[in-house]
Amino acid sequence: MFESLSDRLSGVFDRLTKQGALSEDDVKTALREVRVALLEADVSLPVARDFIKKVQEQATGQAVTKSVTPGQQVVKIVHDALVEVLTGEGEPGALKIDNPPAPILMVGLQGGGKTTTTAKLAKRLKEKDGKRVLMASLDVYRPAAMDQLAILGTQVGVDTLPIVPGQKPVDIAKRAKQQATMGGYDVYMLDTAGRLHIDEVLMDEVEQVSAVVNPRETLLVVDGLTGQVAVEVAQEFDDKVGISGVVLTRMDGDGRGGAALSMRAVTGKPIKYVGLGEKMDALETFEPERIAGRILG
Ligand code: GDP
Repeated sequence: MFESLSDRLSGVFDRLTKQGALSEDDVKTALREVRVALLEADVSLPVARDFIKKVQEQATGQAVTKSVTPGQQVVKIVHDALVEVLTGEGEPGALKIDNPPAPILMVGLQGGGKTTTTAKLAKRLKEKDGKRVLMASLDVYRPAAMDQLAILGTQVGVDTLPIVPGQKPVDIAKRAKQQATMGGYDVYMLDTAGRLHIDEVLMDEVEQVSAVVNPRETLLVVDGLTGQVAVEVAQEFDDKVGISGVVLTRMDGDGRGGAALSMRAVTGKPIKYVGLGEKMDALETFEPERIAGRILG
């Protein structure tokens, strides 16, 4: 499908003279290939440009190590720079959930994988961290979404807040908080409603809920295959409600994962998890090394 960057670069450097250090021209030629690789991986143009500039400064004049070819050396420099940008603060996947009951607000557009991810994360918190988790759906517009969460809850063995028809999202959130407190839960997760596009009503609603529960984490769930759109969605949610982290879903698909780089470069928010399939255990902590390897091919 794609030619790997290492292959491309070894081609480029085969044509170049053997020198002791990477010359500016060598690096420029190589970085043209890197740029194509980044764009093919769906990294946005301004992000790719900035990234290349940074790498160019680092690479020029570096002594060529005897044990590797100049091509391999540039790939390593690019790889390390990718990892640096992709790495967020703290432990991968760490969530601020001490002080029970800790609210986690799940936000995002419809179809991005929010409900599935809520259940996957609840399962993970229960099984890996031994937490008692309560989940509640605030999607009053699609009764099917509430049922979906309840079904997933049964499947993963995590409690869901009983559905009371006719309640507003803010009232459901208050009820979830109360139940989590009274029931001795460690964490309660609120699966907010999604829309096909970002709109004022959706944002106002999320803002109100956020004000009521004061979430410890607000996680944006977004389809990793949507590239630049994912980044725009993240910026809008962050401006309006403030997000603490991102979950990129559908990373099991064909995409090369460039959205991850754009996401980090543009929003600066940590990518905490990646969704790798529809099954309930297909959620992993975000590993910068892995995505860097995938972007480079
Ligand atoms: P929501 O509208 O944001 O709540 O989205 P859903 O959780 O209902 O997910 C929409 C569809 O995407 C469902 O069919 C999920 O099984 C699927 N899905 C969610 N996460 C992933 C993922 O990481 N990989 C794949 N392949 N499918 C996913």
